[in-house]
Amino acid sequence: TQSNTMARRLMVGGNWKCNGTMGFAKSHSTDVLNKLKFDPKKVEVVVAPTALHLSTVMANVSNNVHVATQNLSLTGNGAFTGELSTDMITDAGITHTLTGHSERRTLYGESDADVAKKTKLAADAGLTVLACIGELLEERESGKTKDVNERQLNAIRELCDDWSKIVIAYEPVWAIGTGKTATPEIAQETHAEIREWLGKNVSADAQKNVRILYGGSVTDANAAELIAMPDIDGFLVGGASLK
Ligand code: PEP
Repeated sequence: TQSNTMARRLMVGGNWKCNGTMGFAKSHSTDVLNKLKFDPKKVEVVVAPTALHLSTVMANVSNNVHVATQNLSLTGNGAFTGELSTDMITDAGITHTLTGHSERRTLYGESDADVAKKTKLAADAGLTVLACIGELLEERESGKTKDVNERQLNAIRELCDDWSKIVIAYEPVWAIGTGKTATPEIAQETHAEIREWLGKNVSADAQKNVRILYGGSVTDANAAELIAMPDIDGFLVGGASLK
């Protein structure tokens, strides 16, 4: 295990989920995101608005704030009603995307294979992908956390050789939107397992350089103790990113 300040640039992503208005997209960009004080060499800041609010955010945020889609299509352009293709995403100048958020998996039936395919399509299109993984409460309680994370990671590994555009967001489902954050020790233990998996299954380079974000009820009150952990390289934030 190494210090996360040595090799890996930290990342903090805000996921608005299905929230916001045109007015919010504009005012949050100018009054909140553009006023964040950080060194872009040390921290990559990303915001994932709804598809409808992407252009407004793109038009209003400073260059140091990157914009992400929350999802992308499994297919290209064509007769795919309701979808957003990687071509459209990159054409719009968007540089980042989420894949595999637990809400996509549990509410919209995305399989490990779907998430892997989306991750591959996005990375191949040059997008930086925040690929979300994580276990359900009953899986943690029955000791299956490592197996579940590795199953989700293996699906991505089957399709992706190049992990230079992939960021892993470890988001235990029981911690998302519940106010129950993983303790720094629990999060670190799982992050270290994921990093070990990268070394065994991808490469020594991936083990050293792939960023592993933590997500699940992160707020200003718990971020400092979590980021002090050596294998936590930043956060994906839902609720608190709207404030
Ligand atoms: C998320 O949506 O990725 C998330 C972690 O949500 P919250 O911070 O609200 O738990």
